[in-house]
Amino acid sequence: MKTRISDLHLHRIKGISPTVAQKLGLALAEGQVQGGTGEATLEDLLHHLPIRYEDRSRFAKVSELANGMAASIEATVRVAASYFVGRRRLRIFEISATDETGQVRAYWWNQPWREKTLKPGTRIILYGTWRWNSHKRCFEVQGGEPEVTSGDEEADAPIHTGRRVPVYRKLGSFKTRWLRSILYHTLKRLPPDSVEEYLPVEVRRRHRLVSQYEAFCRSHFPGDEADLAEFNTWRSAPQRRLIFEEFFWMQMALAARRQDRELSPKGPRFEVNDRLREIARSVMPFPLTRDQREALRQIVANMTSTAPMHRLLQGDVGSGKTIVALLAGVVAIENGYQAALMAPTEILAEQHARNIKRLLAQTPYRVELLIGGLRSKAKAGMIEDIAAGEVDLIIGTHALIQHGVQFHKLGFVIIDEQHRFGVMQRAELIRRGLYPDVLVMTATPIPRSLAMTLYGDLDISTIREMPPGRTPIHTALRFDDSRDKVYRFIQDQIRTGRQAYIVYPLVEGSEKLDLRDASQAAESLRQHVFPKYEVGLLHGRLKADEKDEIMRRFASGAINVLVSTTVIEVGVDVPNASVMLIEHAERFGLAQLHQLRGRVGRGTTKSYCILMSERGLSDEARIRLEILAKSSDGFVIAEKDLELRGPGELLGTRQSGIPVLRIANLVRDQELLELARQEVERMCMGRWKSPEVKRLIQVIQSHPRYGLASVG
Ligand code: ADP
Ligand code: MG
Repeated sequence: MKTRISDLHLHRIKGISPTVAQKLGLALAEGQVQGGTGEATLEDLLHHLPIRYEDRSRFAKVSELANGMAASIEATVRVAASYFVGRRRLRIFEISATDETGQVRAYWWNQPWREKTLKPGTRIILYGTWRWNSHKRCFEVQGGEPEVTSGDEEADAPIHTGRRVPVYRKLGSFKTRWLRSILYHTLKRLPPDSVEEYLPVEVRRRHRLVSQYEAFCRSHFPGDEADLAEFNTWRSAPQRRLIFEEFFWMQMALAARRQDRELSPKGPRFEVNDRLREIARSVMPFPLTRDQREALRQIVANMTSTAPMHRLLQGDVGSGKTIVALLAGVVAIENGYQAALMAPTEILAEQHARNIKRLLAQTPYRVELLIGGLRSKAKAGMIEDIAAGEVDLIIGTHALIQHGVQFHKLGFVIIDEQHRFGVMQRAELIRRGLYPDVLVMTATPIPRSLAMTLYGDLDISTIREMPPGRTPIHTALRFDDSRDKVYRFIQDQIRTGRQAYIVYPLVEGSEKLDLRDASQAAESLRQHVFPKYEVGLLHGRLKADEKDEIMRRFASGAINVLVSTTVIEVGVDVPNASVMLIEHAERFGLAQLHQLRGRVGRGTTKSYCILMSERGLSDEARIRLEILAKSSDGFVIAEKDLELRGPGELLGTRQSGIPVLRIANLVRDQELLELARQEVERMCMGRWKSPEVKRLIQVIQSHPRYGLASVG
């Protein structure tokens, strides 16, 4: 039996010494998720694909060279010498070489070891960008890539020149040349059938994917006929095959995980009847938008089946997720279960409680708010009532999952701004229920490609459409020197009865500084800028009832200008606020700025967001702020954010459990990701029992890397 590449450890590859195998193994493991056996295999090495390709196949005679031309020449070394130059004693190694049409010169800085191989009389192929040296009256190349040939074509085909060559990212201390040669020799020796083919034949046929073996050979060493432009943009057939494969198994693992959950213990099965529809209608303060209706339909479809729901509801800030979640909650309550809504901050939980109590005022349901700031006596009483099943809807912060809270019959769980919670916190709330249906919500839309990776095992409902009557927010970038004008503008807004937010960033690692910035600003704004108006200050250090009081006064219009730290970032809803000034805007990330901005533009009047920063912004910061000024669509912004920062940065790869992709790129290869997803769906839907799908599941379970994709 042939050895498979995934079983072939590096130290068993001919031409790799034990020390090298060890070092190389470590370098390969770096930056990848733990797991596997820790011992790198040939398969790992083969996944280290070139970052680009160079065409060194163009052979020229010396007489054909031109200034600036990149070409290989074949020549014989005539003279070779090392000498020192300059005060710093830099060492130069220089050769002159000739072919039958002329002479060239080549030199290298500080590479004395080349003396050993480039002796007079040696035949070499030399690739580089040629320059005319008018002083020496010949073409020369510096730091070119020389390769010694024996003239015996078969035994000694050139690897580094005279062909299309791969260029690799350095791996530990292993540079491109070494990697190229090891990969070249190894691939040449590799029997095609030692590369296992996992992809189903029909999938390969449908998308005309080359074999795995061919994919590896050609993506490392594109043939002479290859279109390098295609390779350099990751569009070539062999590269696409490998990218597709990586996505395919990832999607497969996620689909399997979802399938698992569907087979897991049965959750409550809710019923929808006319009485319930009547209540829902009476609770609704306005007609739902089409997207809201569709999301609600999808949610209720899950709730009325026994498989526990696990659904993500995403929609931009202000798109109206709350009412959808609430109506779903009514379904659960009306069926005799409890529902819980967990929000990341007290302000938000309080706001939800206030709104929802109002909406449900005509119903017999009991709604309670459970947050850390409650007096212990009140809290104890409430915890008792929850355990006794006397509270129907419990709204709270993570206080909901603190010790002592027992639910009577929790059948529906809503988690607002879910990315603010850790995996464990979410799991903890779910664990306290009776296999409850779970709805997680986010106002930080995730680009589709990321959602498919990160939440591939969740069902997703998306609200893209905004409720009617919103006017777009006008966003402008301003510098410190126009501050007076900005203040005058805000004063004008207030004079017409509107309200304003002024937001200060969180100073990294220092809650105190943060507070100082905001409170000093509030003081000086009160005295010098808005003396005639009421200026409030909101920050994270206030007690819950103080925060609540300030929010209530802002919501009622008693406070005209609310100076705040980023505690207002999520969810706060005061439709009369029409202008937001964000100080030091350059310190915020795109998603966060968009969230903040979502606090205005919630009513029918025109709203403004002013991004204030100092002059001399970095290019990166300027791009970020300009994106925001141009677009108000959270989905567009999320895509840009992904492009700017990459998926790892965006979510913190390791914590978020995104499997590390070795070849595929979520930004570059979105189209292949979509294709892989469709393929997996096509293969698996309703066919989980088929031998073919069972084989696929086995592949992911037995493969050290693909298996990782299912780590959650
Ligand atoms: P988010 O999705 O950011 O949580 P909310 O649920 O807080 O948004 O809704 C934002 C605002 O839009 C709220 O004031 C809400 O009452 C209002 N709203 C939601 N849906 C509609 C609708 N269909 N028609 C009119 N107003 C709506
Ligand atoms: Mg919300």
